[in-house]
Amino acid sequence: MNGPAARRGVEEAVQSESVSTPNPAATPDVVVVGAGSAGIAAARRLMVAGLTVTVLEARRRIGGRTVTARFKGHPLDLGAHWLHAGPINPLVRLGRRRGEPLRRAPVEGHFFVRGRPGSRAQSAALDRAFAMADRAMTQAAKGREDQPAGRVLPPMGPQGRRVVAIHGLVSGRPLDEVSLHDFPSMEYADNLFIAGGLGAFVSRLGQSLPVRLGTAVHAIDWSGSGVRVESTAGTLQAKAVLVTTPMAVLQQDAIRFAPALPNGVQEAIHGFTQGVYEHVVLHWPDSPFRGADRLASLTGMHRDPPGLLTCIDGTPFHFFELDQPTAAALDRRDAHAPHRYAREVLAEQFGHRAIRNLSAVHTTRWRHDPWSQASWAVVPPGLYAVRDTLKAPVGERIWFAGEALSRAQWGTAGGAWEEGERAAGEIIGRLA
Ligand SMILES: Cc1cc2nc3c(=O)[nH]c(=O)nc-3n(C[C@H](O)[C@H](O)[C@H](O)COP(=O)(O)OP(=O)(O)OC[C@H]3O[C@@H](n4cnc5c(N)ncnc54)[C@H](O)[C@@H]3O)c2cc1C
Repeated sequence: MNGPAARRGVEEAVQSESVSTPNPAATPDVVVVGAGSAGIAAARRLMVAGLTVTVLEARRRIGGRTVTARFKGHPLDLGAHWLHAGPINPLVRLGRRRGEPLRRAPVEGHFFVRGRPGSRAQSAALDRAFAMADRAMTQAAKGREDQPAGRVLPPMGPQGRRVVAIHGLVSGRPLDEVSLHDFPSMEYADNLFIAGGLGAFVSRLGQSLPVRLGTAVHAIDWSGSGVRVESTAGTLQAKAVLVTTPMAVLQQDAIRFAPALPNGVQEAIHGFTQGVYEHVVLHWPDSPFRGADRLASLTGMHRDPPGLLTCIDGTPFHFFELDQPTAAALDRRDAHAPHRYAREVLAEQFGHRAIRNLSAVHTTRWRHDPWSQASWAVVPPGLYAVRDTLKAPVGERIWFAGEALSRAQWGTAGGAWEEGERAAGEIIGRLA
């Protein structure tokens, strides 16, 4: 069952850090819409350059799709948790500079076949299948024609089905719905974690920014020389606006643009599909898993979970991940269906006795959250150019940023941060 924090919802889940915000300017140089990773990164950079900034954030907290909540005293990330692609991730660079408690994610995972540790040969078959998939997709992506990433996969042996499921999970959609040309640009090697949670870290980074919380933007008028940004807290006049709201939110016309955005920009916004990736947070003190922060591959059954992160930070908490097809199927059932599903799948593997003291304390619902509507944005086959289209400013006064625009780190907090900094750099260049 959901715990009290869960019943109040993610919005009111305990933030590890309180945020003090100075008074935002009434007529800033730049309005930043959204205080997630992209918005925070951009506001920091704009302010260092001496520009005045006001950040408008619809939620009553900053961090967007990074948020850390406490369960039984332990901080757990309900959104982004991994710092992916360490060597190119700006949040890792920043964390190191600040002396933040980063730790490397273990490379070795658990491998079970029908509830028993698998043999070396079985585990090696999984590694081989991954290597075959990577080779096939990298090779096929050199061709001119884009196509579904899943279409180019060769037969990969007994673990092939698992590789397809894992790639589908981390893509946010089944591989048949993901652009092949976009797919290999995702760089997931060299992962790290941060003690206290990634959400708490991002929240610390945004602590002294001029943010108006609980302020949803609903219109941007760029008919004049600057922009007029209309929100639930009134209207702001600025020289430029940076929109970092998720693509899925823009697709719902949550923000009306006057005049309307150019056709190419609108088509790019509507080109993305909704990536779905949700955590069922489990508390399972006598799980069969030893060691901290290891991924577990559970195989050999009818319903193998595509993702299970075990003993997070050395605690009895685990993330049982839901991919898009599973989440969609569970949406047709009742609110407790994800919890029951996780229990059923783990009982199939390890038996009912083994899950006696397993409880599900929370299930995330980012796909139904009005301010995210998805876990991240996914590029369907044939549309890989949409990211680049949105990088160009509109009328030299509207910029877009966020995870959706990053090619090398798409769908990640690091990619969102990188894009926020990129857009801020361009705005600085323009306004200077
Ligand atoms: C369950 C889950 C697990 C994930 N795991 C990882 C991971 O391990 N590692 C990783 O790097 N990434 C992960 N991600 C993805 C990562 O969280 C996102 O890519 C990243 O946080 C997006 O940052 P952003 O700034 O682009 O968008 P957001 O963080 O969504 O920020 C946009 C902000 O805009 C606000 N907003 C929306 N509409 C309006 C409006 N009209 N007016 C004002 N404000 C508005 C929103 O409230 C939000 O705060 C995960 C995501 C989910 C959901």
